[in-house]
Amino acid sequence: MTALSILRTGEPRIEQGFVRPHPDLELPFGIIEGAQDGPCLLVTAGVHGSEFCSIEAALRLFKLPPEEIRGTLLVLPILNVQGFRKRSIYVVPEDNKNLNRVFPGHAAGTVSKRLAAWLVESVFPLADAYLDLHGGDLNEELMPFSIFTRGDERAEAMARAFGLPIIVSGRGTGRTISAAAELGVPGIIAEVSGNGLWNDESVAMLTAGVHRVMHMLGMRGPAPEPAASSLVTMTVPSSPVQGLWYPRCRLGDKVATGQSIGEIRDVFGNLLCTITSPEDGFVLYQMTSLSVNEGEALIGIATAL
Ligand SMILES: [Zn+2]
Repeated sequence: MTALSILRTGEPRIEQGFVRPHPDLELPFGIIEGAQDGPCLLVTAGVHGSEFCSIEAALRLFKLPPEEIRGTLLVLPILNVQGFRKRSIYVVPEDNKNLNRVFPGHAAGTVSKRLAAWLVESVFPLADAYLDLHGGDLNEELMPFSIFTRGDERAEAMARAFGLPIIVSGRGTGRTISAAAELGVPGIIAEVSGNGLWNDESVAMLTAGVHRVMHMLGMRGPAPEPAASSLVTMTVPSSPVQGLWYPRCRLGDKVATGQSIGEIRDVFGNLLCTITSPEDGFVLYQMTSLSVNEGEALIGIATAL
């Protein structure tokens, strides 16, 4: 295993290159070391290799002038490199696993598990705070939102500083931020854009959020204040069958408990099942793909806290 370069040399610098956690795993990294001592903020993207808006945002962080920051920004812009190259949805192609479900991983496991274990053992301990950039995958659309782990006050403060309009108070294990939290590193997931789309405006929502969190951590000067955020919980009905997905709502639509929010039909149009909302709330994200497989997340219903 090759290690990342040391984070503090005492000289402001931008260092870019590839790190090789295992012989068959190689991923790009960037280190921006500021002129003054300070915290280390870790930014990752490309856990899901086709969430291109998040990857482009992470790559643009390489252009931050070191003279303008305190501490160190450590960027791993494409964790799932094969997923990026193959434009895969959800999974790491080498083992067909969702990297964001396998943490803390296993050093002797499949590629996803080894990558997760390397992050937990060799990368997360370097960080004082952690931002994991995501978006809707190729088959999903969403309203911009961030996720923190319920009860983690430092992570909630980061989500508020990041400034996306919706903040999801979430639970869940096996994720990047839950593994980092186990090590005492507060982290959030930020989700912007979907269907693989990106442009300067959506990328800037993510880079502006990174800048605001850096300001909160004392790593750089003030960034423009974000608009107020709404705190929600999210419920995600998944598909009970394989078939064709016909959503009945648009992003932001209000829904009531028990209301039909979509149908799954077979290829001849026969109704296989009706999906109803499990809560009162609004549609935060949804699958846009006509094809759906059993167990896949169909729609995220957000409910105000
Ligand atoms: Zn993702």
